[in-house]
Amino acid sequence: MMANFGGSCSNKRWSLTGMTALVTGGTKGIGYAIVEELAQFGARVHTCARNESELEACKRNWETKSFQVSYSVCDVTSRAQREKLMEIVSSEFNGKLNILVNNVGSYIRKPTIEFTAEEYEAMMGTNLESTFHINQLAHPLLKASGCGSIVLMSSAAGVVAVDIGSIYSTAKGGMNQLAKNLACEWAKDNIRVNSVAPWLIRTPLTESLCSNKAVVEGFEGRTPLGRVGEAEEVSAMVTFLCMPAASYITGQTICVDGGVTVNGFYP
Ligand code: NAP
Repeated sequence: MMANFGGSCSNKRWSLTGMTALVTGGTKGIGYAIVEELAQFGARVHTCARNESELEACKRNWETKSFQVSYSVCDVTSRAQREKLMEIVSSEFNGKLNILVNNVGSYIRKPTIEFTAEEYEAMMGTNLESTFHINQLAHPLLKASGCGSIVLMSSAAGVVAVDIGSIYSTAKGGMNQLAKNLACEWAKDNIRVNSVAPWLIRTPLTESLCSNKAVVEGFEGRTPLGRVGEAEEVSAMVTFLCMPAASYITGQTICVDGGVTVNGFYP
């Protein structure tokens, strides 16, 4: 008897050939690695960022590798620009989207009592509100594809308390909960939703942290695998979650963290 993997997902369990994807923030760091890995497995990818010349430089690089990647300039903190982005994606992919990776995020690290109202708005807007609204906008396209997968880029800081700023942690914790709600609400539409929670990953965002030897040693000391992670170690998990091979995985928060979130403390 044929196995039932749900929806109209391809029978090729480890391929993304024929699939369409939107990855926000694809010009640097984790987002860049995700764009490359999805494209490598055959997906047509649309990405966005704020800096047009960086988008253009990335596109030229992807063309040399024969990856099918297009882009839009979009600041995901703007509601109007999010709507425009989804119009472009819909028109490019004929109203059907298989994969949505909500990757854009940013943090401000300071003690809780020092945060201003503007910083609260900016952190929640960049990390949580933009994700929520992009998911709303993408829902009809994901449903129309018959086989949708959403990945929310969370953080280990949204799973355990990490001294990186309580607003960022709250927003990422909210994203983990959002993945659970959407997974249950949209399962009937053949859309799976998961969040991925990395620990410290070497990217432009963490350049100053990662260039401080004492800080890095502190991170390594608490991390069972004893090192900082690389963007490709996160993109591998995201890509797996978007594969037909992951067809029974939804509503999960998966830590890509060298084991840090399971590490207890012994003085
Ligand atoms: P990154 O190196 O700063 O790259 C961020 C990407 O997003 C860039 O392409 C950037 O391009 C784009 N971007 C930033 N703000 C944007 C906006 N408002 N609108 C559109 N595009 C925007 O970041 P990263 O370290 O790869 O982090 C990616 C995600 O992983 C974030 O959600 C972050 O919270 C999460 N994460 C990272 C780590 C880590 O250690 N690196 C750990 C846990 C979780 P432009 O500047 O041109 O817009």
